[in-house]
Amino acid sequence: VHEENGKETIDTVQVALRIRPLMPQETSRGCEECITTITGQPQVQIKDLAFTYNYVFAQHITQQEFYDTAVKGLINKLFQGYNVTILAYGQTGSGKTYTMGTNYSGSEGDCSSLGVIPLAVADIFDFIEAHEDKFTFKVTVSFMELYQEQCYDLLSGKERTHSVIEIREDVNKGVVLPGISELPVGSTTETMKVLEQGSSRRVTGSTAMNQASSRSHAVFTIVIAKESRADKNLATTSKFHLVDLAGSERIKKTKASGERLKEGVKINQGLLALGNVISALGDGTNRSFISYRDSKLTRLLQDSLGGNSLTLMVACVSPADYNLDETVSTLRYADRAR
Ligand code: ADP
Ligand code: MG
Repeated sequence: VHEENGKETIDTVQVALRIRPLMPQETSRGCEECITTITGQPQVQIKDLAFTYNYVFAQHITQQEFYDTAVKGLINKLFQGYNVTILAYGQTGSGKTYTMGTNYSGSEGDCSSLGVIPLAVADIFDFIEAHEDKFTFKVTVSFMELYQEQCYDLLSGKERTHSVIEIREDVNKGVVLPGISELPVGSTTETMKVLEQGSSRRVTGSTAMNQASSRSHAVFTIVIAKESRADKNLATTSKFHLVDLAGSERIKKTKASGERLKEGVKINQGLLALGNVISALGDGTNRSFISYRDSKLTRLLQDSLGGNSLTLMVACVSPADYNLDETVSTLRYADRAR
């Protein structure tokens, strides 16, 4: 969001690049950094390539600095009635879950490592507390996982096979998910407890690349209904999607085969469709010509990408030389989104 000719204009799609630090095990193996940033400029260089985004966050940037710069302003937009979607994209091990804070567990003693979700939830309830004299607020959360083109409700409390959710489109209501758990929450603590419960039910698979690599998309959704106490007709409902995408690594590198390979193909179908949608939005393509139908992921997010929605794509990369090819591929994907 920025000012132009005194009038507020909004970039509907913004792209942030975040580079994680080298991990100790990488340093001890002799890995070197292969990506360089320029202080004060949202630019990166890798090999003979250069890319510019809305934001570039170098290795030393803290969780709080990242949040304050790229996310905090979007929370106010949410209360103005916009839908907001934040997506973390990148290869496994690049920092998606760390950035989003999807794997929150109350036992995290050090709150300096809190990611986007816990920081955003705290801001949401602070905002509500400060405005409760003039408005009533209802907050509900859902948490789902998209795996092999199936959508699962992580909060249903039922067995996995019984928690499959269909995605429907309603002319008036937009995307509807019949039967999905929408839990009312009244505080940060309560919301984080729900996130923690859902996270523990996520599917993980192992590949040659990462023992517990996440092969599915996790979508945590916060719906905020706001109504003026003075005039019940002054009401808004906003959806806030926080998406920890599946690893973007190409299949070859993970030596996947059989079931894993099929998985890889389906996961990429979602990421591919998402890339096409976001790129079309950035080009200013009319929404009615954008194909949201190519994957469950884009169908699920279709009323929250474009239109009255603000999207932040966070491209996460490793700085290590052995990840160079994947890093370049993520930089290209993010470049298309701008
Ligand atoms: P992904 O979800 O993309 O597979 P993770 O978020 O699990 O990756 O990150 C991989 C590892 O790197 C984790 O140990 C995580 O704590 C660490 N990490 C990621 N980003 C950062 C960062 N910005 N600062 C410090 N550690 C990070
Ligand atoms: Mg992860």
